[in-house]
Amino acid sequence: MNAVPADRHRPWSFAAGPALLPEEVLQTVSRAVLDWQETGRSVLELPFSSRECRRILAEAESELRLLAGIPHCYRVLFLQGGAYGHFGLLAMNLISGERSADYAVTGHWGQRAFAEAGRRHRVRVAADGAADDFRAIPPQSEWRLDSGAAYCHITTAETAEGLQYHWTPDTADVALVADMTADFLTRPIDVHRYGLIYASAQKNLGVAGLTVVIVREDLLDRCDDTVPAVFNYARQARADSRVNTPPLFAVYVALQMFQWLRRHGGLPAALTRCRQRSALLYEAIDTSRDFYRTPVAVTDRSLVNVRFHLPDQEKERRFLAAAERQGLTDLAGHPAVGGIRASLYNAMPLAGARALAAFMEAFAKGGDTRAGRCAPTT
Ligand SMILES: *Cc1c(COP(=O)(O)O)cnc(C)c1O
Repeated sequence: MNAVPADRHRPWSFAAGPALLPEEVLQTVSRAVLDWQETGRSVLELPFSSRECRRILAEAESELRLLAGIPHCYRVLFLQGGAYGHFGLLAMNLISGERSADYAVTGHWGQRAFAEAGRRHRVRVAADGAADDFRAIPPQSEWRLDSGAAYCHITTAETAEGLQYHWTPDTADVALVADMTADFLTRPIDVHRYGLIYASAQKNLGVAGLTVVIVREDLLDRCDDTVPAVFNYARQARADSRVNTPPLFAVYVALQMFQWLRRHGGLPAALTRCRQRSALLYEAIDTSRDFYRTPVAVTDRSLVNVRFHLPDQEKERRFLAAAERQGLTDLAGHPAVGGIRASLYNAMPLAGARALAAFMEAFAKGGDTRAGRCAPTT
């Protein structure tokens, strides 16, 4: 039930992003590119002032609200700029005057978010995983929160290090702001625990060019007119994300992903699939007698980016080359941490993780990894 069909005969890409898309979504999108809903128009050609454009935006919003259980007092914005763009933009929107914002810095992306916000605003490290080489997420008991902070920022899954929160920080009256790019819509979300959630689309909900921002309505009062209109959350909320030309194609693809996720059991089922996929790889690591090692604390292991290392770099190079020959591609770790990284986002079927786990076992044994057993085809 709710299994994702392994219906492709193409390489399994374990890239950190852009990620695989489900075959069903690719089919629907291809049809819409040529002929959108039998209108003779392409979805790529719909004018942004048209009824059709407004309909796609409205439908995407209501599907997302249903899927993620977004309360009425939150606004959903479909913006551009990517999560990296919003690192700085969200600070411009949410920090007024001399206030400062708190950051839990847990890895590469948390560091980037902190640095970008710090270009124009006062920011403070409330929790820092650097001393521990980002092998674990500092427990809440070690956080030093500023009760007057404009917000507290977290990165729910650190894509490079392979860390993920399996708990939600309690920041009391300070708005919790989360970069969910790596794990948005891969598990149920308690939206009401957050002030603002944002995510680029190309990992779990479609293609690059779209950044989804979910923001509690009262926070919009902070967005003053010094923020450029296109990136002003309050103005975009008032204009239903149409201050300027919205990334309609990317929104259309996201809409297909929302519907696909709902057809396949919604977010609870997405989480089950994440657990199943990642368990196969962690098991291959844990049973390899130290051939594969991951520095990540067991409790903070990510279900979406599985990071591990081989005994030396030469073996890692051979691993990557042999995997590639089997159609298991884009497994090189983030340059900041090296090693191997398998990204297992929403559209990765269990068969992809199974193929990789089988390959890992064979490679660790020094067996013939070229055998058809591990081939990615079904
Ligand atoms: C990929 C990623 C980003 C960057 O997204 P862009 O769309 O390239 O700006 C930011 N944060 C996290 C957690 C990511 O995984």
